[in-house]
Amino acid sequence: MYIVQIASECAPVIKAGGLGDVVYGLSRELETRGHTVEIILPMYDCMRYDHIWGLHDAYRDLWVPWYGGAVHCSVFCGWVHGRLCFFIQPHSSDNFFNRGQYYGATDDDMRFAFFSKAAIEFLLVSNKRPDVIHCHDWQTGLVPVLLFEIYKWHGMWNQRVLYTIHNFKHQGITGVNVLWATGLNNEGYYFDYDRLRDNFNPFALNLMKGGIVYSNHINTVSPHHAWEAHHGNEGYGLGHTLYLKQYKFSGILNGIDYDIWNPEVDRYIPFKYTRETLEDKAKNKKALRERLLLRDDPEKPIICYIGRLDDQKGVHLVHHAIYYALGRGAQFVLLGSATKPGINSWFWHEKNFLNNNPDAHLELGFNEELSHLIYAGADMIVVPSNFEPCGLTQMIGLKYGTVPIVRGVGGLLDTVFDRDYDENHPPEERNGYVFYQTDHHALESAMDRAIGLWKYYPEEFEKLVTQGMSYDYSWNHPGKEYLKVYEKIRHK
Ligand code: ADP
Repeated sequence: MYIVQIASECAPVIKAGGLGDVVYGLSRELETRGHTVEIILPMYDCMRYDHIWGLHDAYRDLWVPWYGGAVHCSVFCGWVHGRLCFFIQPHSSDNFFNRGQYYGATDDDMRFAFFSKAAIEFLLVSNKRPDVIHCHDWQTGLVPVLLFEIYKWHGMWNQRVLYTIHNFKHQGITGVNVLWATGLNNEGYYFDYDRLRDNFNPFALNLMKGGIVYSNHINTVSPHHAWEAHHGNEGYGLGHTLYLKQYKFSGILNGIDYDIWNPEVDRYIPFKYTRETLEDKAKNKKALRERLLLRDDPEKPIICYIGRLDDQKGVHLVHHAIYYALGRGAQFVLLGSATKPGINSWFWHEKNFLNNNPDAHLELGFNEELSHLIYAGADMIVVPSNFEPCGLTQMIGLKYGTVPIVRGVGGLLDTVFDRDYDENHPPEERNGYVFYQTDHHALESAMDRAIGLWKYYPEEFEKLVTQGMSYDYSWNHPGKEYLKVYEKIRHK
């Protein structure tokens, strides 16, 4: 099968969070299974060019229709750790992708509407006719709209679209300009509740809704989150649309790429290890302490948090976890970055406050290399999310023998099974700790159980570690699931 992924991220060249990991990991899995995959991305000024091999211009003069005229673009092509990627670079005074950041500009809706238009125009003029176009999140929600309303009539009648939603909270709320810019034009037609009109703001268009309405199939990134979005509030206003489209909506759990996230082969950690050589994990703990100037105390476990510092991730609980861990005689390492100025200055304040504490280190920013060492060196990882479509950090933690302590929502519930209370798994299949409420007590009780086991029952703790490490959350299974969906929509 020939699959083209259109996305705003692909790790490690462009990564703001899990989306990047998924686009890369899934593409690699599909290729391993003998399929052809190409990835279309924006050419951001701030992406990691050092992760691209053989970058060259593949299509020099791509003219993308935009408002009444056309924007001149170049398309570059290169390999990102073996994956063939096309990068679209517009030459216009809008400087859509030269902003020094991937997201967070006031015109993000126009930036990604342009990207969607450019990606599909590129497919058309370069004569690429994939069996499946796989789009991700609101940034590419316009692709199926453009395909089925315009490009289908220009020769792309055989293409099918799978639309994957990684985060319902960001939906691409926009206005009529997007229609005029991308050539959809017909305002009355698209401002319809059955098409792109936002379910709650009658004056706005919703790009994610467009993706849902027009695609041949839609999925989110875990079965439990699919249920939550459909039946609960987790669809952030799109629940009714999902209800109407339930016949083509499902949940597929993300995988992680065990070529990258695997302590047996990890290039970024000083001591590789397996379930059988956990003494080498302890050496990584020592290395982590040395690197972050933490005291080397054999009586203290290290608890970590790795992730965006965002309301979604339960920042107030992350904050509480730091001080609770310190109070309980543990060490805490945090690696995170915040886009909201309020949260950013809050954690900078905490960082300064804890600066001389030998048991805590807060690293604010994005640091892929350091994240590997933390996964390897820590004993436990907290993931106290408010909502979590899938969550990768708990799965990576499991692979590295770092016991997850998670809130029971979304994909966290599909992957972590409480050591003491999970009734659906026998004790030998349990792998972490789960709490449900969003208050401090809930988090504390789970952390207490984990720290208590580490301190007083080290053999039992080690058993929990090895049980977690034996789980297979690779792309093997999800890869098959995605292929089933591709096959299904392809023959429609
Ligand atoms: P989300 O997609 O909501 O951000 P996920 O848990 O799905 O969360 O994916 C997070 C990914 O991003 C993981 O690979 C994690 O290691 C990585 N990550 C998050 N924050 C940072 C950071 N500050 N530095 C390095 N890696 C990070």
